[in-house]
Amino acid sequence: MEQKKKMPLAAQIFIALIAGVILGLLMQNHAETAEAYIKPFGTIFLNLVKFIVVPIVLFSIMAGILSMRDIRKLGSIGITTLVYYLLTTAFAVTIGMAGGKLFSGFFPALATTDLSYEAAAETSFMDTLVNIFPSNFIAPMSSATMLQVIFMALLLGFAIILVGKEAEPVVTGVNSLNVVFMKCMDMILRLSPIGVFCLICPVVAANGKAILGSLAMVLLAAYICYVVHVLVVYSLTVRTLGGMSPLEFFKKEMPAMIFAFSSASSVGTLPINLEGCERMGVPKEIASFVLPLGATINMDGTAIYQGVCAIFIASCYGIDLTFGQMLTIVLTATLASIGTAGVPGAGMVMLAMVLTSVGLPVDGIALVAGVDRIFDMGRTAVNITGDASCAVVVANMEKKKELRKR
Ligand code: ASP
Repeated sequence: MEQKKKMPLAAQIFIALIAGVILGLLMQNHAETAEAYIKPFGTIFLNLVKFIVVPIVLFSIMAGILSMRDIRKLGSIGITTLVYYLLTTAFAVTIGMAGGKLFSGFFPALATTDLSYEAAAETSFMDTLVNIFPSNFIAPMSSATMLQVIFMALLLGFAIILVGKEAEPVVTGVNSLNVVFMKCMDMILRLSPIGVFCLICPVVAANGKAILGSLAMVLLAAYICYVVHVLVVYSLTVRTLGGMSPLEFFKKEMPAMIFAFSSASSVGTLPINLEGCERMGVPKEIASFVLPLGATINMDGTAIYQGVCAIFIASCYGIDLTFGQMLTIVLTATLASIGTAGVPGAGMVMLAMVLTSVGLPVDGIALVAGVDRIFDMGRTAVNITGDASCAVVVANMEKKKELRKR
């Protein structure tokens, strides 16, 4: 019997997006109907995204920390990798916000009926700092105070490592809960086509064609930042720290970049990325540590996307972010990168977290969720290129060290 082939999720999402836009345009005179009867289904989808974000952050960061258990054994390789990953990600989110700011003239303040925002009381840097540390075990999770949840995950993760053998069952538990929540996330993201349709339709109905132009603008801003980050940051690090010509690097990395672009999954691209790094001459033992770790914890493209989208959503709500809020975004997006799974759509879930961390309305995701797949393709290509550049840098540093020893 011939088996019916299922349409890939990406295709379903694109069709839903186009259908949502068309229906939205047709319903411009009936925006309230779209608001009353279509949007609630989009809200259900967003609720599920919000629901999953805390357990995902908690367990995936803990699992990420636990996967680095051998970092001490790996010594300098581990430290170099970690520092490279964190610094490039912090840089990426800064580029994203700068790009978002440059383009913000093109982002409209929207006139939808329910895009309301109550400005959070201005918080100083010191307050932000103090607020990272929770005074209660449950409260951060129930109120989704993300920096505190991240702090808890880091603290628990390191404690488990330090306890050692006695905590083995917890390690298994954390890893397996991580897999379970990832599965939940996967199930929720499978609803993306419905979510996308029901979210984009009322937005287009209420704002007309104008919103399409601004979505194109925010996509353009993100893609320009992706390209700038890849060409400037990775070329520089590969040339100066990795001792390799950027041209050769990109030539050998291209197959992995193309695969990542079309699959939107860092984890799925891992085998091709390993192959690419081998062709660049990165020793196997370095690539097989740096790349899988990168596919789990290093997401420069995702960080750029979060920076751009945070600025975009803030402008749509007519909010000017303070310096403290921007700093918080850099911090959360960098840490969020550790908790972002290398699978399609994960970055959007983490955007919910970044928005919450500075008190921006999570519902703003509705604006960009419809085109998330287009963002995702680019950010995944950047993510895996960052991993490969790190492998080249670490390999070169280790080689130099060996030569010095002789
Ligand atoms: N899809 C991305 C990746 O696999 C993660 C994300 O959604 O940002 O790297």
